[in-house]
Amino acid sequence: MSQSVLEVTNLTKRYGEYLAVDHISFAIGEGEILGLLGPNGAGKSTTIQMLLGLTDPDAGSIQYFGQEFATHKVKILKRINFASAYAELQQRLTAKQNLRIFGMLYEVENLERRIDELLALLEVEEYANELFWHLSSGQKTRVILAKALLNKPRMILMDEPTASLDPDIVHKIIQLIKELQEKEKVSILFTSHNMEEVARLCDRVAFLAKGKIVLTDTPLELTKKIGTTKLLLTFEAKQKVVADFLKQHHYPAEFIRPNLVEVSLAEENIPMVLFELKKLGVWITSLTTEQPSLEDVFLHISEKQRT
Ligand code: ADP
Ligand code: MG
Repeated sequence: MSQSVLEVTNLTKRYGEYLAVDHISFAIGEGEILGLLGPNGAGKSTTIQMLLGLTDPDAGSIQYFGQEFATHKVKILKRINFASAYAELQQRLTAKQNLRIFGMLYEVENLERRIDELLALLEVEEYANELFWHLSSGQKTRVILAKALLNKPRMILMDEPTASLDPDIVHKIIQLIKELQEKEKVSILFTSHNMEEVARLCDRVAFLAKGKIVLTDTPLELTKKIGTTKLLLTFEAKQKVVADFLKQHHYPAEFIRPNLVEVSLAEENIPMVLFELKKLGVWITSLTTEQPSLEDVFLHISEKQRT
């Protein structure tokens, strides 16, 4: 990995007796996107708040660009930025007015030019003069991302920026963030509870559960670990024909009824299985698939940790 932009060591936050963030350590390299993935209450937002200096840690250290955050806070805050679905901009101001205010806070040079650049980059020129609350959630997200780029940050902390978006818009925004990262060469810490978007966006993923990082890996390795889909088939044929076929191909399967079977397999193998079964004269009367949920992933991980 190239030089660390952010290095977190044993970062800890307590709320009373409760350890919301429990001695976590990780680093983010230049131009890298790290996904912090975990269910509600895992400690993602608390971590981000400490990294933004909004909450003081109880223990541990945060270093940006090789400098201690606690002692160089003002200087460092000028070189980072933040985006979240929950931190909305001023509703009664236009997109452009919002960008101006934040630009002044960040003391951005040639502010009007930078704003125009970002409006173009994020394709928000058309509604730059609309009031923020008139915008759709996808448009708002684009303006929030423009705001997060105003000061040409070297690091952007994104706390569930896609949380309030429809799935089809999430796809576009994820693509957009990837492009921004490439164009602006910025490092990103991205939190989410959505496995799929993290897998698509992030170079590396850290799983957070009850305040602890339980696993760090590349998305490819993660999907390999949990890359099975549940396929539920109702069929008309002898149970033995189907059972023998599945056994022969080493697909774990459970017959719920003689004509209803649940098979675990990689998604890409589903067409082949259906095709081969048809060739064997098996008539499929219904079919559903179920992707592994985040819960499945966590079960998988915590089971592994126990063994
Ligand atoms: P996430 O963002 O992963 O959903 P949070 O960081 O918001 O998780 O919360 C982690 C834990 O800390 C939760 O159990 C939450 O209830 C608790 N928590 C968060 N903020 C506070 C607070 N200000 N006071 C007390 N407990 C809090
Ligand atoms: Mg949160």
